[in-house]
Amino acid sequence: MAKRDYYEVLGLSRGATEAEIKKAYRRLARKLHPDVNPGDKAAQKRFQEVQEAYDVLKDDEKRRAYDRFGHAGPGAGFDPRAHGGGGAGFPPGGFPGGGFPRGGGSPFEGIHFESGDLGDLFGNLFGGRRPAGPQPGEDIRGTIEVPFRDAVLGGTATLALRREKPCPTCNGTGRTGKTTCPTCRGEGVVAESERVNIKIPAGTQDGDTLRVPGKGGPGAQGGSVGDLYVTVHVQSHPYFERHGNDIQGIVPITVKEAYGGAEIPVPTIHGVVTAKIPAGTQSRQRFRLRGKGVKVARTGATGDHIYVARVMIPKTQSPAGVDAATLLDSLYEGDVRAELPRGL
Ligand SMILES: [Zn+2]
Repeated sequence: MAKRDYYEVLGLSRGATEAEIKKAYRRLARKLHPDVNPGDKAAQKRFQEVQEAYDVLKDDEKRRAYDRFGHAGPGAGFDPRAHGGGGAGFPPGGFPGGGFPRGGGSPFEGIHFESGDLGDLFGNLFGGRRPAGPQPGEDIRGTIEVPFRDAVLGGTATLALRREKPCPTCNGTGRTGKTTCPTCRGEGVVAESERVNIKIPAGTQDGDTLRVPGKGGPGAQGGSVGDLYVTVHVQSHPYFERHGNDIQGIVPITVKEAYGGAEIPVPTIHGVVTAKIPAGTQSRQRFRLRGKGVKVARTGATGDHIYVARVMIPKTQSPAGVDAATLLDSLYEGDVRAELPRGL
């Protein structure tokens, strides 16, 4: 079976930070640990895979080697010493940095658990087998739909979510006196529905992720609460279109305005602006209003409003209209289709 990409195993992108790697590992290890899934061979395999991915990605040097060479890389995936070392593909003297950490008591060949990490992780879950320090809560993820105007100008959105909080009956200990807490069944946490208000900064783009601190899962042993990460989907607007930080809209103009020039009202996201149509304007010609586009709160970048002319021809047919159009026809300086490609 082909080995899965380590980042994929941990559900991360290649640019993941050390903290993200650790968090992803903790989350998966908690879920897949053999103590939680006794006899589940699939979970065991996944756990092994997660452990192996973490062993490589948490180590700068091994991670660099993996990023460069993948699974085929020097030492990626297993400890050369545990396998006799010096095999094809390994630098003489073993992997730079000294191979994999020595762990103990691994049920899986070639995989080493770091007792420190796992003690940390499972101390809480399994009745305090080891003294555990404060554990930060898990991050949670969600998505929201945001109206076009709020994304451009800034606003607030509300997200309904269920999130875990320390159990109020047992204060998160999982026990009441000598018995398991009946409210949380010993979990120490209860899930509650909550509406979270999210500030949408001006200039938010479709696909942006907003971080809401302290709205994730509860920490343990006095650890900090996790964060909420919200991915924004910006709704399309019936009139405006956004292109980067520019906003575009079509403005209909009359033949006379196009021919002779005019000042016309142009709707922008910031309100209506009086703008020029120069004499001789053609349909689809674009004009720019500087600074009337998106103003990005985070970077201070400012886009423009672009208005696109659309010359409207009267639909009412009349002899006077034909006369006027005939007169206009005599004013073209040449064949209007002179620049069309020929011989296609
Ligand atoms: Zn409880």
